[in-house]
Amino acid sequence: MAEKEPKETSSPTDTITFLGTGGARFMIISQILASGGLWFNLGGTEFIVDPGPGSIVQATKRKFNPEHLSAVIVSHRHLDHAHDVNIMAEAMTRGGFRQHGRLFAPHDALDTEPIILNYLRNRLESVEAFEAGKSYTLDNFTFSTPVRHIHGVENYGLVFKTEKYTIAYITDTRYFDDLPKYYQGDLLLLNVVFLKPFTAAEAEASNMPIDHLSVPDVERLVKEIKPKVAIMTHFGMGMWRAKPWLIAEQLTEKTGIKVIAARDGMKFHLSELDES
Ligand SMILES: [Zn+2]
Repeated sequence: MAEKEPKETSSPTDTITFLGTGGARFMIISQILASGGLWFNLGGTEFIVDPGPGSIVQATKRKFNPEHLSAVIVSHRHLDHAHDVNIMAEAMTRGGFRQHGRLFAPHDALDTEPIILNYLRNRLESVEAFEAGKSYTLDNFTFSTPVRHIHGVENYGLVFKTEKYTIAYITDTRYFDDLPKYYQGDLLLLNVVFLKPFTAAEAEASNMPIDHLSVPDVERLVKEIKPKVAIMTHFGMGMWRAKPWLIAEQLTEKTGIKVIAARDGMKFHLSELDES
């Protein structure tokens, strides 16, 4: 059983902090933009989504306390999403001195090529494998993994539902027809690696993985989903060179919906959705 403690949080309630906004190989290797994932506080429950390399560094330097995490949620087992899972598990269990914290990840990240070391896994409260279309409860809110993405390894986006807000997170994927249908929400978070879509021939020639969203995909998704606010993150090199904040301005104009480009360390207060 988890040790019961008074709820202490290290981040403000109902916020999402972008520990890093870099995505894909070259950005992660160079750390021009940091990596580290999304630190959530929903109604006082703290958890991290996709703790990429440096997550522990980015979190602790902002005085976030990983001992307060209730869960680590991993969309897929690529390094830029899963690298710091073990150290976060170490922190959640307070160095192994308490059985605490939940890990959620796809099957292939737990079985085929485990992202979590065995000795740490045994100290967690639970380890749960995602299924498409399933919902999970974490304290005072639920989240679901509506659909498997097209991205090589097993991969799911997330939809969080609190009493007040629905937050949809479209992690790495190639665009597919029903994608907007699965991610209705007040806030839409999008991983946007590419500026332009790659053709299959270009991808083959450059050996680039093409299963990522690009800016035209974002325009389509924002127009169809119509969230109150959309936030882009997980930028690849080309996207970064094009200055994501300028792209966000253009998308805001084109869609009539507020589109923001996340910056490293940016904190989004969900109360901003009440004003939109
Ligand atoms: Zn990936």
